Amino acid sequence: MSAGADGRASLTRVEAEVRAAALRVDRVEVELDLLGDALPTFGSRTVIRFASEVDATFVDFAGEELVSATLNGRPLDLTTWQRARIPLTGLQAENVLEVEGRMAYSSDGEGLHRHVDPADGQTYLYAMSFLDAAPRWFACFDQPDLKARYAFTVTAPAGWTVLGNGPAVAEGEGRWRIEPAHPLSTYFTTLVAGPYASVWGEHDGIPLGLHIRASLRAELEAQAPDMLAATAASFDYYHRLFGIRYPFGEYHQAFVPDFNAGAMENPGCVTFRDGYVPRGRVTRTERATRAGTIAHEMAHQWFGDLVTMRWWDDLWLNESFAEYLAHRCCTEATEYALWPEFGILRKDWGSVADQSPSTHPVAGNAAPDAAAALQNFDGISYAKGASVLRQLAAHVGDDVFLAGLRDYMNLHAYGNATFADLLDAWTGAGARDLPVWAGAWLSTTGMDTLDVEHTDAGVRLVATAPAGGEARPHTVQVGLVDETGGLTVLDAVDVGAEPSAVVPVAAPAVLVTPDATDLAWAKVRFGTDGWERVLAALPGLQDETASVVVWNAVRDAVRDATLDPAFALRVVEAALPTSASEIVCASVLGFALDQLAGVYAPVAERAGRAERVRAVAWRLLRTAPPGSDRQLVAFRQAVRSEADPERLRAWYGGRDLPEGVEPDPELVWSVVERWSALQTGTDLLEDALAKDPSASGQVHAARARARRPDPAAKEAAFRLLVEPSSAGAYELYATGEGFWAVGQEELTAPYVARYFAEIGRTAAFREGWALGQVATQAFPRTAADEQTLRLADEALRTDLAAQVARAVTDGTDRLRRAVESLRRWA
Ligand SMILES: [Zn+2]
Repeated sequence: MSAGADGRASLTRVEAEVRAAALRVDRVEVELDLLGDALPTFGSRTVIRFASEVDATFVDFAGEELVSATLNGRPLDLTTWQRARIPLTGLQAENVLEVEGRMAYSSDGEGLHRHVDPADGQTYLYAMSFLDAAPRWFACFDQPDLKARYAFTVTAPAGWTVLGNGPAVAEGEGRWRIEPAHPLSTYFTTLVAGPYASVWGEHDGIPLGLHIRASLRAELEAQAPDMLAATAASFDYYHRLFGIRYPFGEYHQAFVPDFNAGAMENPGCVTFRDGYVPRGRVTRTERATRAGTIAHEMAHQWFGDLVTMRWWDDLWLNESFAEYLAHRCCTEATEYALWPEFGILRKDWGSVADQSPSTHPVAGNAAPDAAAALQNFDGISYAKGASVLRQLAAHVGDDVFLAGLRDYMNLHAYGNATFADLLDAWTGAGARDLPVWAGAWLSTTGMDTLDVEHTDAGVRLVATAPAGGEARPHTVQVGLVDETGGLTVLDAVDVGAEPSAVVPVAAPAVLVTPDATDLAWAKVRFGTDGWERVLAALPGLQDETASVVVWNAVRDAVRDATLDPAFALRVVEAALPTSASEIVCASVLGFALDQLAGVYAPVAERAGRAERVRAVAWRLLRTAPPGSDRQLVAFRQAVRSEADPERLRAWYGGRDLPEGVEPDPELVWSVVERWSALQTGTDLLEDALAKDPSASGQVHAARARARRPDPAAKEAAFRLLVEPSSAGAYELYATGEGFWAVGQEELTAPYVARYFAEIGRTAAFREGWALGQVATQAFPRTAADEQTLRLADEALRTDLAAQVARAVTDGTDRLRRAVESLRRWA
């Protein structure tokens, strides 16, 4: 995109501090002309009224064309617009800046995104300003701590739905005005506009709206009651918890196309990826996860939107809190007990991140500029931070924990705050020794290991820090699993800070788990003969939370090369078919197929192991009630592991399906994707696309095309990944996902070197989220050998854009662990 000359500069922390100290932004008026006759751009005019204590600063403007700019009525030299900044000189105490330009609609989910729904040809827009994309749709001082009052005036086709950070008031035909009630940071300003279909509601005086493309109206209407119930329960919960009413008026939740994140917490108008309203059957676990995201974005209305971090280094104040509060809210106030999901999905994500070379402290990640900050939206900022907050609430007591949060929010409402402000609030509420605790948990990286030693008197808990440092304090509950799978949970004990005492064990236990209730942030192990004990005890263990801890330990030990993946597969075969947990079955089957039968298996053994995973899926399937979620979860994995294209063809045609399995659109496409990976024909793919040319169908088709074991198909897919094209971001991600298929190692081998040679150049034509996401998905994840590691290390010594470097660093770390495991166990 054009952004003045030479691409875009990323705002540094130092620049942000200087500008925040000098300016006070009073009011921003944005006028947008979205009448579609001037594609691919739209008109944007901004008037900013601000006070200044300095002579000069700059405003951010990342448009296609700068039409005019005046400061206090004086025209500015338009040629000074460089790297998406317009220099402002000769500032007075009070200033009026007017900037008018043409901005590009985006196709990468950032800025003002434009999507034409292939289902009906209708156009849908939404704005994503996060993290630094606001200047892609209007001129602004783009940083979290220059909050301002906004007014948006929008001209758009009559009959559209127009939503924003406040009520949209129609001002005649095709014209709307939105004046949010409170000051906003630039990064959560938004606009949602198009012929969206809506479901309306109300709770406790708050108007509620759910919105989606018209082609998904039926799905939205079917699932709206569940989502509105979660929304209402969460409002009640947060009102009780915080003692501050939701301040932003109406509450809209828009499910939008091509969205990169799960959701974005724009005050009053949250945007979600539309995959949360799927076209297929929605299992209970999927509804629970969606309720978790709804509650997460609602927590942000207070934590993030009402009180906003000053700079991105404190982004954990947003994400760790929203994550922690959402799980707490759902478990306590909705029908969805969400902590097992936190354990098996979120903690595992954070655990991988915290042990990778790109790990960073929970708080105060350095984030020298906005581009670097974006890289830290990872499993540490979300899952580790939330886990640590759970420990903190146990450490200081829930009353102190909540009283501190309330004080913090009351004191800094509508403004910005830092971690130090929060520490002050907790200390004021009665917390002791917080700096020591915070130093141990929030400013360090890596994970301690919690293990058990069996002694004559019982078991001793042992906490070990990484690289021989000092272990952190952990509050945990030891669990004893007997030979029938029964679990006894002991009282909470503290370990780590001081040498641990022996915990008496009354009855002989088959398995002793150091953390039965999944409270710790630690690697968990079970003693010297621990894995044999796991094999003996896990098949009978029905406590979902305790089993999550054990499965996470198995996955972690495989990645550490301390557990033979072949042994881990035996544990899966022995224990998974008796698991009653839908989310455990789905996660562990996925791990077994993608890792144990994939990158953690020698290439020659991958097919044989996949057959064993398929057998586990079918055992689950045959014992599940027809039509149950458990049956559907097992069948999805059975499809992913099926080796016979004719059987898949029969399923595609609706034949020979297990009784109770309904071929919904998503399931049908997963059959097509698997079929495409096994043979070179395209008739099923073409038939499926003809029947389902929707946006979702196009994405599935892209994944299926990339899977095809055909040299020309692979070449075409690879070029999509590394060359400019008009393909949407979702199609690019799906192409990357499909490209590196297990079983096609020989066919894809030439692309390993090409990936490392060519991926760096994608920074010339992609940016932001899409740049990093394509590099991540396109990483040669099945090529677990020394040669790939060598090429990766060479690539990392070259000058790569931050997003690409992070993708290659993390992809290489995952691969290095697999290579190490193969060296040890294969
Ligand atoms: Zn969040």
